[in-house]
Amino acid sequence: MSAAAHTPMIRQYLRIKAEHPDMLLLYRMGDFYELFYADAKRAAECLDIALTSRGQSAGEPVPMAGIPVQSLETYLVKLLGQNESVAICEQIGEPDGKGPVAREVVRVVTPGTLSEESLLVDRQPNLTCAVLAEGGRIGLAAVEVSSGRLQGLELDDAENLEHELGRIGAAELVGLENNLALPASAPPLRSLPAAYFEAGRASKSLCEAFDTHDLHAFECAAFPLATRAAGAVVQYLRDLYGGGGAGKLSHIRGIRFERESDSLILDNVTRSNLELERSQDGSTDHALIPLLDDCSTAMGGRLLYRTLKRPLRDPGILNARYDAIEWLAANGRAGKVRDTLKHCADLERIAARIALDNASPRDLLRLAQGLDRLPALCEHLGDAPDGLLREIADQLSPKSELVELIEGAIVEQPPATLRDGGVLRDAYDPELADLRALQNGGATQLLEIEERERKRLGTPQLKVGYNRVHGYYLELPRSFRGTPPEDYQRRQTTKNTERFVSEELRELENRILGARSRALAREKQLWGELIRRLQPETPGLLNLADSLAWLDLLGNFARQARRLDLCRPELAEDACIQITGGRHLGVERASREPFIANDTDLDAQRPMQIISGPNMGGKSTYMRQVAIIALLAHGGCFVPAKRCTLGPLDRLYTRIGAADDLARGRSTFMVEMSEMAHILRHATAHTLVLVDEIGRGTSTFDGLALAWACAADLSRIGAFTLFSTHYFELTRLAEGLKGATNVHLAAQEYADNIAFLYQLKPGAASQSYGLQVAKLAGIPEPVLQTAREKLTDLEAKRQRPKDEPQHSLFES
Ligand code: ATP
Repeated sequence: MSAAAHTPMIRQYLRIKAEHPDMLLLYRMGDFYELFYADAKRAAECLDIALTSRGQSAGEPVPMAGIPVQSLETYLVKLLGQNESVAICEQIGEPDGKGPVAREVVRVVTPGTLSEESLLVDRQPNLTCAVLAEGGRIGLAAVEVSSGRLQGLELDDAENLEHELGRIGAAELVGLENNLALPASAPPLRSLPAAYFEAGRASKSLCEAFDTHDLHAFECAAFPLATRAAGAVVQYLRDLYGGGGAGKLSHIRGIRFERESDSLILDNVTRSNLELERSQDGSTDHALIPLLDDCSTAMGGRLLYRTLKRPLRDPGILNARYDAIEWLAANGRAGKVRDTLKHCADLERIAARIALDNASPRDLLRLAQGLDRLPALCEHLGDAPDGLLREIADQLSPKSELVELIEGAIVEQPPATLRDGGVLRDAYDPELADLRALQNGGATQLLEIEERERKRLGTPQLKVGYNRVHGYYLELPRSFRGTPPEDYQRRQTTKNTERFVSEELRELENRILGARSRALAREKQLWGELIRRLQPETPGLLNLADSLAWLDLLGNFARQARRLDLCRPELAEDACIQITGGRHLGVERASREPFIANDTDLDAQRPMQIISGPNMGGKSTYMRQVAIIALLAHGGCFVPAKRCTLGPLDRLYTRIGAADDLARGRSTFMVEMSEMAHILRHATAHTLVLVDEIGRGTSTFDGLALAWACAADLSRIGAFTLFSTHYFELTRLAEGLKGATNVHLAAQEYADNIAFLYQLKPGAASQSYGLQVAKLAGIPEPVLQTAREKLTDLEAKRQRPKDEPQHSLFES
């Protein structure tokens, strides 16, 4: 169908839509944003709104769906949540009667490039990631527009891409089409032009953004692929936010590269098994990060999230954090610091919005209120010892001139937006004050006219009113029996009133509206100048925000150390995991019963525990608590134990539970085996591996053989291994396997019942109490009785290894 066959409006729509083919185009029509054709159908589905049609164009009805302008943000949140991107097209001209009003896309909103407070989750980062594969390596760059943070890293193993993307938690992914196989869990790829990734162009893009001649200061030469990805993602942001050079992205001041070897590596499965963000049931109730997050600011909350998702290995960095926590806790400063920080808003995101030119009046006021607290914070840290807290304190120098500037400019309770003015103080600008006086003077005159005309016509019901179509008018009720005076010209008749204008009212209207629009224009101009005055401050403000976030996080860790009875870990040079009185915070919080603490003692000579015990006996809890303690220690946090000494660790892996991954066509057994394969290929003598049941998804002998072989391989590697099992055969393994010991979770049997003691004891469990636990679970008595008979039968036939452990299956 040729374009000419369409109506002029649809032609305009199609022209603009062609520039934004992969996003929903919201086309402004009066008080609505309309979507047409395929966009309308998609939006109707995503937003659950009516799909209608608007007349015909090119002989076909035009499918249409619309959202009211004032509800835009609400609908945007829903669309972004479903990974949709949106181009907002506004009317930019006046109707001239010759064709559709001129329109233009004024804003493009994508899931990973947000800066608006209403669209962001305050305690979660919001990032876009760029990926580039070449020569067997992968370069990654992640940028957060709402903080200006830009990070890069390179991977030499495509298998790790999924885990890195999971760790970064990017809301959006950009790259080259058909460049690499992306994991199913990754967000959909938006493809960028290949030129964006060319080395020269990417470097130029970064130099422009950082306002530097070259990239020597940023280690880029060591990370060529990540640098190209970073250049491309910055160019992409520039496309969205407009402007050449650094432009509105002046808050992206540099790039930091991460090395895989700097951090304790966790894969996605491990993060999920350790319930970092969510419990296995999907709730956040007893998950680790929400449980530990009592930060005073959203910046602190986001830093906690980043810190625990990328635990570090450098003992120097970790000890510096422990020192700071100890000082804050011991001096009772944590409380003071935390109380003061509660008055500091999200300075990081506010500073980013200043750079992006979309800060609101309330943002600036909250910025000033936050800056006003700096002297108090400095006082709390006045005698902090050298180290992390001293470094933070040095960044908190007062910014009283900014506070004065902002508080002198903005009224005490400003409106949410600048749209209708009323944001700046009269005293801030004499010209603005004069225009407002003119506007207000006009309002007083209107009241005088109303008063005078009421007396003149002898009716107190006469009113002076205003509407956008007719401007100011004099309104008389229909019940008015007299004749309107000669100078009254009839304008409009409504059901119960007649409306008139007079020459005097018209003149006054011109003056008032003129003053109002000039006051608004002046206010907008002044606002622009104020923002431009603040923009050069954004790098300093972002540094400050970073320091405040750290102070908040350390203060929070100090508070949690007391609240949750945590201890300072000791980082040793020799390989070991020694924990006295270790606890699992989530289980401890969730249960009404007292938690039974347990000890762990692993070292290079005895790195493996084979853990047996009844179902429900506490095996998984014990294993996870060891891993969580290791993770927390590497996040710089104190740990739930009485004492804890940890040697160097490089990775943390878990193989826990059994679940089908039907979406990816993998059965329970296949999931088990591929997770185990990943562990066996990557584990080292410094890796902590949790294996909670393996080989259960296949026949008994196959499963047992595999479990045995996996444990033997982990023993060969020398990895710290906690290996839980119900195969009694495996407990025999410990006797012959280098570095392995048997432990079990104790339980007591009485009559036909079982009491769990949750205490870790040396040696293997004598039985698994499966039937007793089944009874607890409510299996009907007749079924249990049948099971008992069958068990006796099986044991008699010597199919159960318990009866003859001396001749187990794998004994040579
Ligand atoms: P299964 O073999 O059936 O998977 P399990 O031995 O792994 O069971 P867990 O899942 O660790 O057992 O624990 C079961 C429940 O026991 C927990 O949900 C918790 O309520 C309680 N529990 C576990 N460990 C302790 C402990 N140390 N102190 C108190 N209660 C505990």
